[in-house]
Amino acid sequence: MASLSDEYDIGRLRLTSGESRSVELFTGVDLFELGADRYEVAPDPVGFRLDIDRTTGYGYAFRLRFSAALHGPCMRCLEPAEPSFEVDIREIDQPGGGEELTSPYLADGILDVHSWVREALSLALPSQVLCRPACAGLCTQCGVNLNADPEHAHPAPPDPRWAKLSELDLNVDRDD
Ligand SMILES: [Zn+2]
Ligand SMILES: [Zn+2]
Repeated sequence: MASLSDEYDIGRLRLTSGESRSVELFTGVDLFELGADRYEVAPDPVGFRLDIDRTTGYGYAFRLRFSAALHGPCMRCLEPAEPSFEVDIREIDQPGGGEELTSPYLADGILDVHSWVREALSLALPSQVLCRPACAGLCTQCGVNLNADPEHAHPAPPDPRWAKLSELDLNVDRDD
């Protein structure tokens, strides 16, 4: 039975160089505020798989995998959207490896899985949250949802040149 974890004590595993371990854990993910809208993360809590490899030189290689969905309004048509995302991301922490090989989530053998899961999900989010990839959005003239009515259209406004012509007197005398 997996348990709810905001932090995971890596040091406790006492892995030696070359050893690895996989654990299934759960953590809560705070809602995302994108633009003016709020998006809840589902499921709550999110289940994730954490692979831990002990590298040589007292380092670690981590792999984080989970799937999660956002629940909130479609940014185009405002209907409820539930896009889901697959996350598969890695971190390396190698003592003496410099900033690039230092995980911001690991401190004193404790991995901050709560922050890492949320960051990893935020990196997977698109710039626009949509109800479907090709959401047609709303009619710019009347606001009707174009997904429900793909044929929706407004008659083209009359060509102003025709209006001008109709004002002219086109009665021509025809003698023949
Ligand atoms: Zn939509
Ligand atoms: Zn319309």
